[in-house]
Amino acid sequence: MDFELSDIQKQIQQTFHEFVERRVIPRAQEIDEKKEFPHRLFHEVGELGFFGMRYPENVGGTGSDITSYCLAVTELARGSLSLAAACTMQSLMGTFFLYRFGDDEIKNKYFIEAIRGKLIGGICMTEPNAGSDLSGIISMVNVTENGFILNGQKTWVTSAPVTDFLTVFAKTDNHEQLSIFFVPTNLPGVLLGKTIEKLGVRGSLTSEVSFSDVHLPKNYLLGEIGGGTKSMLEILAEIRIMTAALSIGVATAAYNEALEYAKTRIQFGKPIGTYQAIRMKLADMSVQLETAKHYVLYAAWLSEKNLPRHKESMIAKLYASECANNICDQASRVFASYGFAMEYPVQRYFRDARFTLIGGGTSEILKINIGRELGL
Ligand SMILES: Cc1cc2nc3c(=O)[nH]c(=O)nc-3n(C[C@H](O)[C@H](O)[C@H](O)COP(=O)(O)OP(=O)(O)OC[C@H]3O[C@@H](n4cnc5c(N)ncnc54)[C@H](O)[C@@H]3O)c2cc1C
Repeated sequence: MDFELSDIQKQIQQTFHEFVERRVIPRAQEIDEKKEFPHRLFHEVGELGFFGMRYPENVGGTGSDITSYCLAVTELARGSLSLAAACTMQSLMGTFFLYRFGDDEIKNKYFIEAIRGKLIGGICMTEPNAGSDLSGIISMVNVTENGFILNGQKTWVTSAPVTDFLTVFAKTDNHEQLSIFFVPTNLPGVLLGKTIEKLGVRGSLTSEVSFSDVHLPKNYLLGEIGGGTKSMLEILAEIRIMTAALSIGVATAAYNEALEYAKTRIQFGKPIGTYQAIRMKLADMSVQLETAKHYVLYAAWLSEKNLPRHKESMIAKLYASECANNICDQASRVFASYGFAMEYPVQRYFRDARFTLIGGGTSEILKINIGRELGL
């Protein structure tokens, strides 16, 4: 057992830590308030090699291990969960199926440019009536002699207003199971719908997208007809571990702010942190943060070693996101009125953290699936 990070992992953590201190934290409040996609920072994250971390060097990635990736994700989320949500979408779900199943055209024209941060990708699974239950997807693809025709409506598509291409889950007229399609957004019939006003991660734009008779060539099928769910399982554990790392990032930001405030805010002649009520809050937050952080790294380690990790990735995501929400809630209480003021960042952490309860599977769904893993 070795709990020490390698030199490379420490170096990656430090690089992202410094970038977040210097470039992200000073802009995080503005990203949230303006509700604008942070293009410039997104490109800078691309220049750091983040989008290619989980892909091998022979396709332009850096071949980093998942622990290094989680450390980078945590740092980005510590600075701005909006930026981190947009960047993780690009580095994982938005590009994975292109890497895994794309032909030379898709890889050279889109994938390689996306992991450089030059093009932006998104994923379309959710529909108005299909959220946790993706078997409810009704987007339909007609299989023709020359390719495919896609019709349907998607919602909650991260980065949709700025994407160059989408990965779309749909049913085909010749198979009951889901298939995955590559869809450049400049094709006729791809229509951007309304942008959803959100409680948190407001700088990560989320919109509806619809498809009206979108013609796709044969090579835009990613994987096999009906193979969508199986393909998704290849990356699901990593998505959950990554979402857990996002949770650790926002929780760390809230915890750090609350600790500092507890040391400096004077009431009744003493720093509030000297009162047992506040001290116990900080202790509880620290216990949750440390245990969640270590469990997430454990799940990443299992993944790295290619050991079974289905249940552990769910535990990591469930526990880290629930802890993050509790930590942000407790931080808000430590700040009291200043935790309620829009000019202080604690309210943003509190709002942003709600996202971690949903992305990568809701807590209820994860508990049901963990229960199943227990043989119940
Ligand atoms: C900020 C943000 C970004 C997103 N980005 C994307 C994206 O890029 N692409 C994409 O495809 N989707 C995206 N989503 C959508 C997300 O994946 C879905 O919101 C998620 O799958 C949950 O679906 P739902 O919101 O429809 O909730 P529902 O599935 O309708 O669930 C509602 C409630 O019922 C509970 N529930 C559902 N089924 C069960 C059950 N069997 N037993 C017990 N409880 C149950 C849920 O836990 C939840 O509490 C995003 C969501 C958010 C908030």
